[in-house]
Amino acid sequence: MSDLLDQSIVYIKGVGPKKAKLIADEINVESLGDLLFIYPFRYIDKTIYTPIRDINPNDKSVQVKGVLISKEVIKGRKQKRFTATLKDSSGFLELVWFQGSQWIADKLVLNKEYVAFGKPSKFNGGLSISHPEIELYNASMSTALTLEPVYPSTEKLKKVGFDGKSRRKIIKGILAKLSDKHVSENLPDYLLHKLKLTSKLNAIKWIHFPPNQAALDAATKRLKFEEVFFFQLRILHNKEVRKYKFKGEMFSKVGGYFNKYYKEKIPFELTGAQKRVIKEIRADLGSGAQMNRLLQGDVGSGKTMVALLSMLIALDNGYQSVLMAPTEILAQQHYKSITKELEGLQVKVAFLSGSVKGKTRAEILKFLASGDLDILIGTHAVLEDPVIFHRLGLSIIDEQHRFGVMQRSKLWMKGKEKPPHILVMTATPIPRTLAMTVYGDLEVSTIDELPPGRKEIKTIHKTERNRAQIIEFLHEQIALGRQAYVVYPLIEESAKLDLANLQQGYERLLEFFPPPQYKISVVHGRMKPADKEIEMKRFADGKTHIMVATTVIEVGVNVPNASVMVIENTERFGLSQLHQLRGRVGRGAEQSFCLLISSYKLSTNAKARIKVMVETNDGFRIAEEDLKLRGPGDIEGTQQSGVQEFRLFDLEADQTYLSTGRTIAALILKKDPLLEKEPNQILKNYLHHLNKGFKDWGRIG
Ligand code: ADP
Ligand code: MG
Repeated sequence: MSDLLDQSIVYIKGVGPKKAKLIADEINVESLGDLLFIYPFRYIDKTIYTPIRDINPNDKSVQVKGVLISKEVIKGRKQKRFTATLKDSSGFLELVWFQGSQWIADKLVLNKEYVAFGKPSKFNGGLSISHPEIELYNASMSTALTLEPVYPSTEKLKKVGFDGKSRRKIIKGILAKLSDKHVSENLPDYLLHKLKLTSKLNAIKWIHFPPNQAALDAATKRLKFEEVFFFQLRILHNKEVRKYKFKGEMFSKVGGYFNKYYKEKIPFELTGAQKRVIKEIRADLGSGAQMNRLLQGDVGSGKTMVALLSMLIALDNGYQSVLMAPTEILAQQHYKSITKELEGLQVKVAFLSGSVKGKTRAEILKFLASGDLDILIGTHAVLEDPVIFHRLGLSIIDEQHRFGVMQRSKLWMKGKEKPPHILVMTATPIPRTLAMTVYGDLEVSTIDELPPGRKEIKTIHKTERNRAQIIEFLHEQIALGRQAYVVYPLIEESAKLDLANLQQGYERLLEFFPPPQYKISVVHGRMKPADKEIEMKRFADGKTHIMVATTVIEVGVNVPNASVMVIENTERFGLSQLHQLRGRVGRGAEQSFCLLISSYKLSTNAKARIKVMVETNDGFRIAEEDLKLRGPGDIEGTQQSGVQEFRLFDLEADQTYLSTGRTIAALILKKDPLLEKEPNQILKNYLHHLNKGFKDWGRIG
């Protein structure tokens, strides 16, 4: 371990315990190493001074040189503040301090020439900079660094004097002592040579204080590459290790069940995408390694058929399968449609959920264990301990994002000697760039084509002001025999208000659609699951005309007769959620509609989201737009993926790094899957170091 970088920042001159605590709270820095591994987010040319007259209040920062012509401590009602005025040949600029003002006031000397640096703002009609960095001018400054680092910081830190200037001084001090004893190289020589990368030590020095633009570029290239490369190498290497450790059940043949169904019973021609995906799955199942595959495909793209065919392959090889869905309704829907598909094939299918009890349950468990059941379809009840399979070969999870990693691993355990193959299906498309990272440990198959003849859902944006029109439209559709959803947002933080909102909407609808002629279902997340199921079922069975709901209906419900989706407070939903909701309609032969209702005034971001929804039905495009609008951190699944831990690498701007890193990691592992060769030891050691959660620096190996 590196002594230098492990030193606490408390011992830095001028820091001390109180400041150290603030620094830890504000930017999560406790040691010199922590500080060193926060890189500058930009660089400024400090040899340039802006004439005061030319300062624009929108500038991010300016540097001004001028004579201090006045200073004044002002005692306000609440706090003291100190103002000073700088004058250059073009005008006057006010500088303001709120905290530590006395100290500054004492330090600054009238009529001397100073250099001030900071973010300008408009104040009382004039320009000012609050809490600037300020220094006596000296001639050597004009030959100073042209690329001075600027670090991410906070107001609080600046106020206690832990500003850019002091930070640069500290970093300089650390760098002066830094050698490759403290920051060890983690890339093998052959990679450094081949990719013309500078050493880690150089990169760290130059990223903070680049002597010139070329050095900065070299440092950036090296550090970005390293981040992406190790991220990918770790994922791929873990995968190799797993393949090596866990042999999978071998499904070597495609036999009678699959062929009979495929040739005689399948109700439609598979889309090209479905065929491709089945091929990918078949290759995995017959490889001898355990499959871990994600199947992503937009709502309605026909994932169930892929699941069914995969289960038939398992059956042809003498294995049982399980299909798990996140809700009872969904599981039942799968059960119904799959038993119907398999009629006449002598495949034994059973349904299991918490509501299956007593003798039926006991019997199912018995037949599962004896091998008299071929396919089990159910809710997470299939995960429970008493559920024991005779010979489980394939586990399929529908709608991945409702299940966690825990559940996936529970399914693993259901295999007898080897874990079953796992297929995870999701209708929340992830941008291609993210799929590599978020689902790094899964192979990804994508259905990027809808079955032919689907009608595009017409999406229309309306505001509160168009209510009458919306009601009229609902009347028309219901008169045609269709059903409609009306969805309200419900989030934990404002649950009470949200529920009241839903209640109000429901009552308003009752006025226009009075009983007994019309029937309205209400479903929200606060209801008991059993009550929810009953209400959903009433709607699914066509017994009610309108379903007023919160987002509980987001996942999977299939009511082909529902042709209208009205979304209230659209501005409060995220893009992928809106797309999921819209996917509830457009499942039948009729033209379907999605009405996005929002308030009249909208933020730029909300406008952009609604625009995307109106423009496209393509889940992948929506996922890409979502990524652009929200940034990777908010996309579902990324929180656990480590995507945020990148320091320099930017998922959007640095796509080429992503593919280079991935390609090179894959090449290395192809030749040396377990990183056993001598030149790759350094990589293996560093991965070990990362897997242990150690800090970037320190001795490895
Ligand atoms: P999802 O991917 O959302 O789970 P489903 O599997 O429920 O989609 O399929 C949606 C509908 O499309 C179902 O009614 C299914 O029978 C139908 N379908 C699936 N594949 C095809 C196809 N190749 N051609 C025509 N219809 C299809
Ligand atoms: Mg589905």
